[in-house]
Amino acid sequence: MKYIIRKICALTATAVYGTIVASALHAQQTAHEHGAVTLNFALDGRQLLMEIRSPAINFFGFEHAPSNDEDKKVVEDGLTKLKSSATLFAINGEAGCEVASVDAEHVLHEEHEEHEEHEEHEEHEEHEEHEEHEEGAMHSEVIANYLFECLIPDELDALTVLLYEQFPTIDRIDYRGALPGGQVSGSLAPEVTTIKLK
Ligand SMILES: [Zn+2]
Repeated sequence: MKYIIRKICALTATAVYGTIVASALHAQQTAHEHGAVTLNFALDGRQLLMEIRSPAINFFGFEHAPSNDEDKKVVEDGLTKLKSSATLFAINGEAGCEVASVDAEHVLHEEHEEHEEHEEHEEHEEHEEHEEHEEGAMHSEVIANYLFECLIPDELDALTVLLYEQFPTIDRIDYRGALPGGQVSGSLAPEVTTIKLK
């Protein structure tokens, strides 16, 4: 019972953060491009919300529904790495930001279908339905949400993204951020990993 309540809370929290980030940024539908990751973030008072959206292949090396123990372990390990926010993000220390919550999930869907429709169905899909699918026809995403609480948000001036070190197949991170002073956007590459926020 406790687990269920916690799970529901986590889902609700994710939905709320996702909505805040999306509405703050007027985020557009992101393309599914292997190697590319989308990072949305917003500073709202003392809360720094971040959302990563990415083709699953960037983290797992495949996008099909995990059908054996080996696949399941790859997905589990990838999501665990994604949840260790301290190894993925470095925020300038003056702002005093600490991670408050993290959530990461593998969202399965097929081409032309909206992943929103599938977020809640992942666990109920019969893998028999998928066994015969061509590898290339199956795509899936990973969505991860991070909430940081910052003691002195005015001091926030640099966000370094360390995803490349953890997941070497990533070659581009497109970012978009909403800050009190306005919006920032651009792309990071393996040799350019810091977003200047001031
Ligand atoms: Zn794909």
